[in-house]
Order: sequence, then structure tokens, then C-alpha cells
Amino acid sequence: MGGILAVVSHPDDETFGCGGTLALHADSRVLCLTCNPRDRKVELKVACKALGLAESIIFMEDNVVPSRSLIKRVADVIVAERPRIVVTHLPFDYHADHRATYEVVKEAIEWASHTTTYEKSCLVERLLLMEINTLIPSPHVLVDISETMVRKRAAVEAYKTQLVKFSWGYYQNFSDKKAELRGAQSNCAHAEAFVEESLAKNGPFYEAKATRNLLR
Ligand SMILES: [Zn+2]
Repeated sequence: MGGILAVVSHPDDETFGCGGTLALHADSRVLCLTCNPRDRKVELKVACKALGLAESIIFMEDNVVPSRSLIKRVADVIVAERPRIVVTHLPFDYHADHRATYEVVKEAIEWASHTTTYEKSCLVERLLLMEINTLIPSPHVLVDISETMVRKRAAVEAYKTQLVKFSWGYYQNFSDKKAELRGAQSNCAHAEAFVEESLAKNGPFYEAKATRNLLR
């Protein structure tokens, strides 16, 4: 794969948090940890299609508990998919499932790199954290999604069961205004914002741990 893997708590998180960015890279994939109620699986499928992505991978958990077994399952997906970039939730997100997903993913990225656990371990290059309803105070990365904003809007429309909860159009409005705000910050029409978290490579599992070129 070598692209982007978004690991999210619920169907719709991928669209609101990083849908425009995923749509820029058609080989991106989505790993969704919960699907409650279960018919939202169909909505996730429609949303991924609207974003131009391959079918998503879904773990049918009821909620996200940072157990060793869930960390291992996520690490297995990372090793199988071999993404260069992983996107997930913020550790200060308002939603407990989102915070728990961050914990699981951070640990799974570490496990996936262990040569003692996996014959073909996978070293993820970058971890980006996205915003859903809790906004990032100072983004590190702003991705210009002007050309995929149409796809992001179409994916939002796939989530009929969620949209009807807010008949005044909260979801559509918030998604649009957020993309405009991030666009204003980055001199383009629409953007998505991320926190970039550095990945520690100080365990015993990495062949190359030193660099001779800081500017590379
Ligand atoms: Zn969510």
C-alpha cells in the first residue's frame, strides 16, 4: 500500500476528520474500530466510495477499549497494509472512544515496528492527528483539499442516520465552515488540519537509529 491508513472510532470520523485528504490519495484505506448500530457499515461503504477509496476494514467492537488484543489487531493491519502515514484521533478529543483510539493506534504503531513480533515489521513514517468536533489550537500540517471538497461533501451526505439527528444541518455546516477556516489559514479555499506527532524510535528494534544528515 505505502499510502495513508486512517484508523477511526466510528463510521463518519474518516469523512469529517480527513475525508478530503484521503480522497487526494486513492490508495488510502480506512480502518474503523466500531460499527454501532451495525447498519452504519453500509453508510461507511457509500462514504468511502464517494471519496474514491477501496472498501474499508471494520472491526465490530461495541466501544473502543485499549486492550492488548485490540492493539495487536490494529498492529496486524498496519503490518499487512504497510502505510507510510497513519491518521487517527487527537488525545484531547471530547469523545472517549476517540481518545481511546489514539492510545490504541500509538501503541499499535510501536508494535508493528517490532522485528521480534513480526517477520516483516512495518515502520510507519508519520502519525497525523485529525480534528472532528474538538478543534486543534495550532495545526502543524494543513492539507489543501480544495479539489476534493466536492467528494468530502458527498461522503458527508452518505451518513443519513447521523444527519437526521440534527435537522438544522449541523454536520454539513460545521464540516464546511471548518474546511473554510483551515483554508483561510493556509491560503486556499478548503483545507484539513492535523497535529503531527513525532514517533519515538528509541527501542531496541530499529536497525538505523542515528542520522548523519539532519537536513535530509
Ligand atoms: Zn467518532
